[in-house]
Amino acid sequence: MKNWQKTSMYTSLVLLLILVLLIYFLPINISLSSSDLHFSPGEPLEMGEPDSISEKPENIIFFVADGMGFSHLSLALMTQQKEGEMPVWDEFEVRGWHDARCTYGPLTDSGASATALATGVSTFWEVIGQDTSGKHLENVLELAQNCGYATGIVTDSYVWDATPAAFVAHTKSRDNSEDILNQIADSKLDLIFGELEDIGEDNNPDLETTLEIIDRRYYRLDERLDISEVPDPGQPIAAIFKEDQVNDLNSTPTFPKMVEVGLNRLIEQEKPFIMIVECEEMDAASHANNSGRVIKGLKAMQEALTIIMEYAKKDGETLVVFTSDHETGGLSANGNYGSYPDMFISWTTREHTATVVPVLATGPGAELFSQVRRNNDIGILLKKMIKKEVVNAPES
Ligand SMILES: [Zn+2]
Repeated sequence: MKNWQKTSMYTSLVLLLILVLLIYFLPINISLSSSDLHFSPGEPLEMGEPDSISEKPENIIFFVADGMGFSHLSLALMTQQKEGEMPVWDEFEVRGWHDARCTYGPLTDSGASATALATGVSTFWEVIGQDTSGKHLENVLELAQNCGYATGIVTDSYVWDATPAAFVAHTKSRDNSEDILNQIADSKLDLIFGELEDIGEDNNPDLETTLEIIDRRYYRLDERLDISEVPDPGQPIAAIFKEDQVNDLNSTPTFPKMVEVGLNRLIEQEKPFIMIVECEEMDAASHANNSGRVIKGLKAMQEALTIIMEYAKKDGETLVVFTSDHETGGLSANGNYGSYPDMFISWTTREHTATVVPVLATGPGAELFSQVRRNNDIGILLKKMIKKEVVNAPES
């Protein structure tokens, strides 16, 4: 073989090797065109008439973990449980998933997804408590309030953020902060705990205006969350914290503390209650691809959930539903056999993804949540769980 032939053969072999390595190591990405995707809303969930639900819960605690997907849940299972202890996640007897799409397609934002969770109706991105034609949709808290329930919202995000807003307000954009705040003040909520964000910036009212609006309805607690200082047992209460004040278990207050105080206050009302709990830490940490913050957020979330589950177990008449509004970050929990059992976290995006998200439920009526397919099925079910016969409780 001549030299030039040898060189040519070696070059071909090297190129072939590079090609094989590229094929092996590079991910194969494809685009899905709209003809590959199916956006149709599907048939509404068939669950019979409301009265056909034989066992309605006395109380409902609905926990939304903003931005939490199955990989976040996998991380929680890997990192949270203590030696010999059952993970709180395993205490849910129903474990399923839902597809969080909005009416635009598979991706959603918290406004559309929380509106679907709160009202049972899918809508556009950014919309709060309205359908695609702008019609106001009754949410599960409004239905419960009209039936005499005590109601409350606890969030580690800002009080007018899209998720809490969808359970209290109706407006075409989640950015309408002053409108949402006014609707929070005009609502029948018994309590709202959460932060402030971007005060005085963009279209957001300044601090003085924000607190003036809140104070129209609520007695405002400081960060000690001392319920004993509230003058009237039926007085609606609020606790409003600074931007990013509530984050991990070292913050004052902690998210679990807020959940504990909020839950106790609703129990004290001595009527059926529905409590909405939002943990937004997963979404914020995942947009930033901040793995350490995700782990800290999961610890706070698990501690809050443990408080809820302990109460529900003792009470026996409380339905607890845990879900997410969408996944954020395309998080993946990875390891390799060489360094097993060490694990590492990787991310595919800083945005929301279209992956399905967990639905967990326990307590009276929990089994119905095994039928859930879309986010709005959850809203339909929550509304069906409200006891219509309570009604004549005094209006606060
Ligand atoms: Zn987000």
